[in-house]
Amino acid sequence: MSDLQIAKKTTLKHISKIAEKFGIDPDDIEMYGKFKAKLPLKAIDKQRASQSNLILVSAISPTPAGEGKTTMSIGLSEGLNRLNKKTTVVLREPSLGPVFGIKGGATGGGYSQVLPMEDINLHFTGDFSAIEKAHNLLAAIIDNNIQSKTNSLRLDPRTITWKRVVDLNDRALRHVIVGLGGTTSGVPRETGFDITAASEIMAILCLAENLNDLKKRLGNIFIGYTFDKNPIYAKDLKAEGAMTALLKDAIKPNLVQTIEGNPAIIHGGPFANIAQGTNTVLATLMGMSHSEYTVTEAGFGFDLGAEKFFDIKCQSAGLKPKAVVLTTTIRALKYHGGADLKSLTEPNVEALKKGIPNLEKHLENISKFNVSAVIAINKFTSDTEEEIDTIKDFAASKGIKVALAEVWEKGGKGAIKLAQHVIDIVESDTSDFKPLYQWESSVMDKIETIATEIYGAEHVDYSSKAKAHLRKISNLGLDHLPVCIAKTQKSLSDNPKLLGRPKDFIITVREIEIAAGAGFLIPITGDIMRMPGLPAHPASEEIDITDDGEIVGLF
Ligand code: ADP
Ligand code: MG
Repeated sequence: MSDLQIAKKTTLKHISKIAEKFGIDPDDIEMYGKFKAKLPLKAIDKQRASQSNLILVSAISPTPAGEGKTTMSIGLSEGLNRLNKKTTVVLREPSLGPVFGIKGGATGGGYSQVLPMEDINLHFTGDFSAIEKAHNLLAAIIDNNIQSKTNSLRLDPRTITWKRVVDLNDRALRHVIVGLGGTTSGVPRETGFDITAASEIMAILCLAENLNDLKKRLGNIFIGYTFDKNPIYAKDLKAEGAMTALLKDAIKPNLVQTIEGNPAIIHGGPFANIAQGTNTVLATLMGMSHSEYTVTEAGFGFDLGAEKFFDIKCQSAGLKPKAVVLTTTIRALKYHGGADLKSLTEPNVEALKKGIPNLEKHLENISKFNVSAVIAINKFTSDTEEEIDTIKDFAASKGIKVALAEVWEKGGKGAIKLAQHVIDIVESDTSDFKPLYQWESSVMDKIETIATEIYGAEHVDYSSKAKAHLRKISNLGLDHLPVCIAKTQKSLSDNPKLLGRPKDFIITVREIEIAAGAGFLIPITGDIMRMPGLPAHPASEEIDITDDGEIVGLF
């Protein structure tokens, strides 16, 4: 059965019932139909949130075989609820790009899903549209200012880094020239489009603590320089008030439900390479305000998403996670061990053993944050007993808890052992989270620390452009910001071809971008795709709607 077919078999509860179960007066929610609602920010209680146990689900280095972090997060939350621990799963919102591109949403799979999946995957409550509008409003204000004779800041169009966004995979928009058509139609300049999930506003929304903080961060967006080399920020264009007004509903976390009728919060969806990659701080705090356990996800692999989750999001919001669930698949480890993609469903203990160093490195990285780990083996039907035992033996040799999780096939029932391990870790209080670095360290120190400690690099090289950017950052007084390294997710190194646990490599920083609004710097170590394209046969070919309004063909 497809994910959509499984989803449709589930009888959904009215969202007011889910709100009650979550612990909020149904009168206080803003309903978007019967099955989705916005939660009021006043329902966040930081004191109560600090008592909740935050569990992070991450994974080994991703492979084309797929790891299943979202599916695992949902299944684990169902398992914890079955063990009578009041639990909420807090996840990111899907982008429409992948939905219409290569099949794939962000609502889990099999019997571990959040619902209504067709709504969540298509538009949902309109947050992405609001982000897109706020982003493009700033772009319009910039081009208008360049055109203006009376109000001009004398922005040098060649220095403007702010582009436009749209939430579709549309490669034809990567590079565009705006302002064609003569003196009344603007000043021609080269720019481009990114996908909405890559917008700095998405990253800002995900770190904002309230409306006022959101406005302040939006005002701090760096735009470019004047002809006299003075930096210009969004606040210099008086843009932040109107942008915040457009985001007044998008800032509120969205409440939905899991297949087993438990509350789930879905909010924000930043990229995990050029941004912090996790749902909003407000959604996490909302979940924590009303649950004993809060389960959240950071992708791609632990080296990218989880490092940023810990060093940027947790430091920014004062969160202290209690455990990390490291999602692992036998297929992926075989791939890391050199097995061919086509042969991953065949038993191959030898390749599996060769791939285990990748898992080992991620486990070592987790311990650098002083947080206890559990390995969750995401069970696929092709896994053999011998292969499963190989991972269990490895875990035993390292003294790390491991559970076979059958969340895709069985939902919460398949996550009881995993949930019990998580509870044991939390109750034995073995974690005492500490970030990897202090924000006050120098930019080069911060990059070096992540590259050597987490990626396992020998050292870091900087291009002359990156060195110039370091000087620019220093001149702008932004050295104190944390770093959000953009790197390939496919390898622990910056070379996507180096699988497993690469050694003796150098990380090369080519340039460093400034996300002054979001509040981080982005060292770029490879080609980062911000506007994907569609495949020859996009998933959109299969998606349809019946005369009765039923969506079909969505995964
Ligand atoms: P991630 O969050 O790591 O990107 P997802 O949880 O979204 O991964 O899963 C990616 C895809 O793999 C989904 O389509 C999901 O249905 C599928 N999937 C996950 N786990 C399993 C499994 N154990 N067996 C089969 N398919 C799975
Ligand atoms: Mg996911």
